Amino acid sequence: MKSILVGFDTKEQVDAAVAYETASEDEKDYASVIASAPLHSYSGQCVYCGHCKPCPVNIDIAMVNKFLDMAKSQPAVPESVASHYGTLEHTASECMGCGGCEGRCPFEVKIRERMKEAAELFGS
Ligand code: SF4
Ligand code: SF4
Repeated sequence: MKSILVGFDTKEQVDAAVAYETASEDEKDYASVIASAPLHSYSGQCVYCGHCKPCPVNIDIAMVNKFLDMAKSQPAVPESVASHYGTLEHTASECMGCGGCEGRCPFEVKIRERMKEAAELFGS
């Protein structure tokens, strides 16, 4: 188990940090902040934010992308990743290519291509 301990120098920093607790859902949404970050581009990379929902065949696109990235970061698909992928109720092979998700993704992820890739890699 890992943990992060955050330190503060001023009362204002504490106030800014705890303001999260009373922020609206829109204010808590980090996707637009990351998508417009000037010094780093996440374009084309899934950050697992879930903004692409809903999928008409109920694929959990963020989870499929996460397992795909984990699998591709290794020379061979780790057994644990394949096993977790296998527990998904709906897998990438069910993608019917409607493209609705891509219009909602702030990071311009080529989701349909990735669903095909995941279906081939995991075999379902
Ligand atoms: S595909 Fe796009 S919208 Fe969907 S989880 Fe990934 S980054 Fe977020
Ligand atoms: S393109 Fe595939 S993953 Fe995206 S919403 Fe349509 S069916 Fe779901």
